[in-house]
Amino acid sequence: MSEPLVVVEGVRKVYRTGPREVVALKDVSFEAYPGELIAVRGRSGSGKTTLLNQVGGLDRPDAGRVVVAGHEVTALPEDGLLTLRRDVVGFVFQSFGLIPVLSAAENVGVPMRLARMPSAEREERVAMLLALVGLERQVNQRPYELSGGQQQRVAIARSLANRPRLLIADEPTGQLDSQTGRQIMELLRALVRSEGVTALVATHDPSLITLADRVLEMHDGTLRTARAETPLTA
Ligand code: ADP
Ligand code: MG
Repeated sequence: MSEPLVVVEGVRKVYRTGPREVVALKDVSFEAYPGELIAVRGRSGSGKTTLLNQVGGLDRPDAGRVVVAGHEVTALPEDGLLTLRRDVVGFVFQSFGLIPVLSAAENVGVPMRLARMPSAEREERVAMLLALVGLERQVNQRPYELSGGQQQRVAIARSLANRPRLLIADEPTGQLDSQTGRQIMELLRALVRSEGVTALVATHDPSLITLADRVLEMHDGTLRTARAETPLTA
């Protein structure tokens, strides 16, 4: 097998709010390989978001190690984390996170501007990505002129802006009806194949579970690997 793209080793995360402590992750370890679509499943409060945030460099664990595409995430200084989140990891959230005053095309272009991509290249890539997610006719529409599913497609196109190696999606269908959610999951499945990214997707959605190569089960801050050795789609 090839080298893992993601290595998570003994990760622990404790939230302290006043005198109360919540151990959100207890000694979590796993690896993700290039091109895998991994579903992270578990009840609300089981630690899915906390886990994805440690992997994507949005937060730092209290113990353990995270490596993404050869970058020792847990050892990076703040500016290194910024670069990682800009160039190596793409994020998709339940609430889409689009900028309301910007068009679909402008939203997708934001990470490319931050990475100082030349404008001709940027325009070409924005058009390509919006076509890839099936929105070639909505490029000039603003988020409020788009359906929820269309907004999430824009967010997915934006997440791919800088050709990330890793896509992290936290309950990407949580605000969508089940049919639209299914379409978004199928889009993610297709993009993981066509773009060669690795994806970690937290979800309750049974339709993603069946599309995933592997399912990681979170339970009270610990990980149980389900069906790890048998890819569900081959
Ligand atoms: P999930 O995404 O599976 O619903 P989370 O990772 O959001 O779970 O939460 C795991 C645990 O950590 C929960 O008990 C939650 O209440 C707690 N938690 C999450 N974020 C914070 C925070 N910022 N401060 C304090 N506790 C938190
Ligand atoms: Mg969550």
